[in-house]
Amino acid sequence: MIKTIFHQQLADNSNLKIDSLGEIPSPRPICRQDNGSLNIGFQALDCHLSEPIRDKLALRWISKNDEIVDYSYLDLCQQTSRFSDMLSRLGLAQGSRVYSLAGRRPELYIAALGTLKAGCVFTPLFSAFGPEPIRSRMEIGDANLIITTHSLYRKKLKNWWRELPNMKAVLLIDGNPDNEPGCYDYVSLMSDADPNRACEFTQAEDMALLHFTSGTTGKPKGVIHVHEAVKHHINSSFYALDLKPNDIYWCTADPGWVTGTTYGIIAPLCHGVTMIVDEAEFDAERWYRILQDQQVTVWYTAPTAIRMLMKVGEALTKQFDLSHLRFMASVGEPLNPEAVEWGEKVLGMPFHDNWWQTETGGIMIANVPCRPIKPGSMGKPLPGIEAGILNPDSNGVLQVETKPMTVGELAVKPGWPSMFRGYLNQPEKYQSCFTDDWYLSGDLAMKDEDGYFWFVGRKDDLIKSSGHLIGPFEVESVLMEHPAVSEAGVIGIPDPVAGQIVKAFVALKPSFTANDDLLQSLLGLARKRLGAAVAPKEIVFRNNLPKTRSGKIMRRLLKARELGLPEGDISTLESDER
Ligand code: ATP
Ligand code: MG
Repeated sequence: MIKTIFHQQLADNSNLKIDSLGEIPSPRPICRQDNGSLNIGFQALDCHLSEPIRDKLALRWISKNDEIVDYSYLDLCQQTSRFSDMLSRLGLAQGSRVYSLAGRRPELYIAALGTLKAGCVFTPLFSAFGPEPIRSRMEIGDANLIITTHSLYRKKLKNWWRELPNMKAVLLIDGNPDNEPGCYDYVSLMSDADPNRACEFTQAEDMALLHFTSGTTGKPKGVIHVHEAVKHHINSSFYALDLKPNDIYWCTADPGWVTGTTYGIIAPLCHGVTMIVDEAEFDAERWYRILQDQQVTVWYTAPTAIRMLMKVGEALTKQFDLSHLRFMASVGEPLNPEAVEWGEKVLGMPFHDNWWQTETGGIMIANVPCRPIKPGSMGKPLPGIEAGILNPDSNGVLQVETKPMTVGELAVKPGWPSMFRGYLNQPEKYQSCFTDDWYLSGDLAMKDEDGYFWFVGRKDDLIKSSGHLIGPFEVESVLMEHPAVSEAGVIGIPDPVAGQIVKAFVALKPSFTANDDLLQSLLGLARKRLGAAVAPKEIVFRNNLPKTRSGKIMRRLLKARELGLPEGDISTLESDER
């Protein structure tokens, strides 16, 4: 059915040709069978077995208690073959849907790659989801199997999973002490399985991954990706993350989100790097210690984490030797210029912001190592990617905006290998993301004379006040310049005169107290830097701001709460303090 949607579109639109743009020389050869078939899991692991890196450290796992477990490429290859064999013994076949619900532990990484090697479809779920979001995502994706822990099973799955019509099994990583029917002990099944089972080769357009979006703007969507995507995983991590085989690489994203899978599992292994996986949650001191002790060279993280490190202050940073770091990148939210400069000042190098979405399957626009950074800009499109800013002409038809620094919708020319092939069960929604020539991202941005892209905000978050179009990011970045501010979220609220007025929610660094003087100083800074028309009319202090579990500020929730409107789908909301 997936293919039908996509090929239907190909037939309808001659501009949409896979590979029309994605065909750039790959820094690593793609391993294909004679009939053109390939497999992401094979590309990440098995194809290294004939190279010296087969015995190299592929994955170093650090447990919450600082226990370290190492896997070579050969170990991972054998473990994932066992996993794939186990799926087949449990009656799963190519195309079957395998879900994971687990923290960042080795079994999750083995399951992801083993599922792909079996030709099955992998869907990671964030382990902190409650039963409802888990159930709805498993229903939407028609799950056949889930791998989880005994305690997560008891709390979140036990009472309802048998009601799902096509579920065949639950795999319990840490055993099945209650002998629950339909549940299997992972360890004993793995030990019986074949470590040399051959990888199933899949067609380029076969579905490989089903990812759910972060739910920042509404109900999360199930996004379909295919095996061909691996070409872009490899190329984009080469250009935007500068991955080289000798790197020790740490991607802090959880595989529950697309970043944690594309760049936290697949891309680094394809390049033969050593990757670090930390089971624990964010802790500034712990993170610096990992960077130091593991001699991390390339670090891919997110603005929320960077802001939290900035909040803790640089005295802590100075206690660690971070001299192995050579490249740092960030994704997921706009990266305030302050944060880029902080990296330069405190860590000795800037953070390189890059932009992409679950739908794009990989990085589209980036600050690459060989180009100067303009702090606050997302950079330029990667090789093979054509991006544009679109605005309606006088007939309402979307055209490429030719005036520099003019706000419009950020769009990408379809055809790159990791482009999504559908929203599961929502073909109309998928079609509505495309014009004849472009994929429409739903984000607003500007392009400057040098071809750098500047994020303005999501279409839904744009504020229209007294004839001005105001992007929240611009206002938030100015508030972030204030030494007291650790986070800012800006929304528009209805106003009978101005249409909307700008309201800001601000969280402070630990050593600052909310009071009237600080409020005036923030209002003053905003007016001076933005002018009275764009500066917030109102600023309120919060202990923290509502965020998705992938770390994005949920402006729609700030707005709904402000206006007393229904909160909508909050399945991805991290618990927050109002
Ligand atoms: P949903 O689509 O369910 O509302 P989401 O859009 O947050 O959730 P993701 O696909 O995880 O889900 O996030 C992609 C979005 O994150 C982008 O569309 C953009 O709004 C934001 N984003 C990602 N990287 C950047 C960046 N470098 N600068 C600004 N925004 C970014
Ligand atoms: Mg989105």
